[in-house]
Amino acid sequence: MSSTYLIALGSNRRHHRFGGPRAVVFAAMEECAALGTVTARSAILDSAPMGAAQRRFANAALVIESDYDPPALLAGLKRMEREFGRRGGQRWGDRVLDLDIILWSEGAHLSPGLTIPHPEYRGRRFVLDPAAQIAPGWRDPLTGLSIQHLAVRAR
Ligand code: ADP
Ligand code: MG
Repeated sequence: MSSTYLIALGSNRRHHRFGGPRAVVFAAMEECAALGTVTARSAILDSAPMGAAQRRFANAALVIESDYDPPALLAGLKRMEREFGRRGGQRWGDRVLDLDIILWSEGAHLSPGLTIPHPEYRGRRFVLDPAAQIAPGWRDPLTGLSIQHLAVRAR
C-alpha cells in the first residue's frame, strides 16, 4: 500500500563530485525518485548554521508517495546519506547530507530509531519554511496545527 511522506533535506558540506551544499541537496532531491514518486519539491533555501555546525546550510523539502513503510523508507534515506559521504556520529555537526522523515500520511509512527512526526521539527524554520511551500495545509497529527501555522509561529 502506498502512503505519502514529507521529507526534509539539508547539507552544509561540499561533495567532491556534486559541489557545494545547494548542489548536494539538488542531487539528493533527484535521487529520492528511487524511493517512490516525488509529487512536490520546494525551492532550495539557505539557512544560518546551527549547533556545532560552522557552515551555512542549504535546505529543502519534498513530498513523496512510496510503497515503503516508515522503517524501510528510513533505511533507504540512510543509505543515500552514506552514499553522499556522510560519516556516522555527527549529530548537529557538519554533514554532506541529512535526510529526515517529518510527516507521514498515516499519522504517528514509533519504532526503535524512528519517530514520526520528527520530534524536533516544530521549531525548525529550516524545515518549516521549505515545507510550507509545498504542504502548507498538512496538519501535524499531534498538535493539530498546519505546517503553515507552525512556520509562521517559528518566525
Ligand atoms: P538530526 O537529523 O536531528 O540532525 P541525525 O540525522 O544524526 O540528527 O539523526 C540521528 C538519528 O535520528 C538517526 O540515526 C535516526 O535513526 C533517528 N531518527 C528518529 N526519528 C527520525 C526521523 N523522523 N527521521 C530521520 N531520522 C530519525
Ligand atoms: Mg537526520
